[in-house]
Amino acid sequence: MVETNLQQHINQQLFEKLELAYFCVDQSMRVIDASENLESYGYTGVITGANADDCVDFMFGLDAHTELDLPLVESPSGKKVSVSLLPGSTFLTVLISNASVQADQRQLLQQKANENELLVEQQIILMKQLETASEMLEQKNVQLEEASRLQTSFLSGVSHEFRTPLTSIMGYTNLVKQALESASDESSENDKVQHLRAVQRSSKHLLSLVENLLDHGKLDSDEIVVRPKATDLAEIFNDVKLLLKPLSDAKHIDFFVELDFEQPMMVVTDDSRLRQCLINLLGNAIKFTDSGSVRLTAVLSNDFLKVEVSDTGPGISEENLAKIKLPFWQAADTGKTGTGLGLTITERIIELMGGELEISSVLSSGTQVNFEIPAPQLNATLEPIAAVAPSFKQAKILLAEDDYDIADLIVMMLSERGYQVSHVDNGELALNALESQEFDFVLMDIHMPIMTGYDVLAELQAKGNTTPVAIMSASTVESDRAKAEQLGCFDYLIKPVEIDDVIRVMNLALEQ
Ligand code: ADP
Repeated sequence: MVETNLQQHINQQLFEKLELAYFCVDQSMRVIDASENLESYGYTGVITGANADDCVDFMFGLDAHTELDLPLVESPSGKKVSVSLLPGSTFLTVLISNASVQADQRQLLQQKANENELLVEQQIILMKQLETASEMLEQKNVQLEEASRLQTSFLSGVSHEFRTPLTSIMGYTNLVKQALESASDESSENDKVQHLRAVQRSSKHLLSLVENLLDHGKLDSDEIVVRPKATDLAEIFNDVKLLLKPLSDAKHIDFFVELDFEQPMMVVTDDSRLRQCLINLLGNAIKFTDSGSVRLTAVLSNDFLKVEVSDTGPGISEENLAKIKLPFWQAADTGKTGTGLGLTITERIIELMGGELEISSVLSSGTQVNFEIPAPQLNATLEPIAAVAPSFKQAKILLAEDDYDIADLIVMMLSERGYQVSHVDNGELALNALESQEFDFVLMDIHMPIMTGYDVLAELQAKGNTTPVAIMSASTVESDRAKAEQLGCFDYLIKPVEIDDVIRVMNLALEQ
């Protein structure tokens, strides 16, 4: 009895603690016994005689012989329970216990697993981002190293490119100066002329270098422009030949120029841009060719100019051909100096002229560069400069220029040709002179003290003074030219100006 009470007590404690409930069914699944606390789980219809299939949903389809554990079942009262089916020889006991703690734990575990999965995914994304960032960094590093290498070789190239013609200019001018100063001058007139020609050549070379450098700054801003005008095509090619022949002679290589047109051949094109391209391409051909020849051919047909520059130089590898037009790019192994800008700029100019620069090359055999641009032919010829009407020579010209060397040079060259030139060295004096005297033509610098060339143009415009003014400026920036044109200048000449250009513009102005 004592033992039975104890047993009961323990059972009760256990049942209460674990919130155990149970019911038993016979072989035909009819309820034969059921504990009271089944109701606390919401199993209300489980009474003796009831069919378990009808009143307990998880019993549907089961039989009395199946041993089974259902770990997390939701009871009719919404509690999570765990169910154990324990078959005996004559009946089946179904034990139900509260499983909300396990459910909570399971939910917690699931949550933790989800969070972990999320973390792993985030980690994978971060790793990928890190990988991409480090790849980009590596690429940037390579680009920076390449840029710094190119910059260093560009600077040393530029320095060399400038120093070479400057050395020649300084050396030859000194020779001529010494010869003229010396009492016992033994050099012939011809020697002096040759020396001065070398100075002229080097100056032009220097100018083309400066033009390339300035144009590079304009590449990104689309500032490079071409200005087609009536020009003698044959003169351009002959000039370029004269300029470059001494370079090929110095290297003992042949320089052939084949033109299918005679001088004069008037076409519409930008002469200075065409000259710049030819000098760049021929300069390269001569520079890189150490034996053999360089050939320039030009054909004018149906208003198109076809040009080919070919050489028997070292050629360019296929890999290098792909990079050759990039700014500052130079093949590493040529042993020649340069800026790496010539082809970049030439390509852009040819594009602007309506053509395309094509380069083909065979290693150890040579390189060919071709382009074809529109060059509409004109019947008229340019007035030769010598045929200036005598009345023009009496024309009064005002020169406004604050640089005395340039001013002296222009005054000298115009006076030699019979023009009357007055010189002032600032804008205010120019304006005073124009107010107090009659002038037929004004040649004026922009950057001058007291009053700039722009200020003078604006004053003249405001006062209705229509004396033609040609601006002479060192600025190649398009907006400067546009500003001067807006203020009514007759023409805009870029320094260094050729005296023939000044006279051509002046004659045009005087004819009006
Ligand atoms: P630069 O001549 O000042 O180096 P370019 O832009 O004109 O600059 O040319 C870029 C590079 O292309 C040269 O440094 C040279 O490596 C290669 N190149 C150009 N023209 C020739 C040529 N005719 N033969 C061989 N290599 C050439």
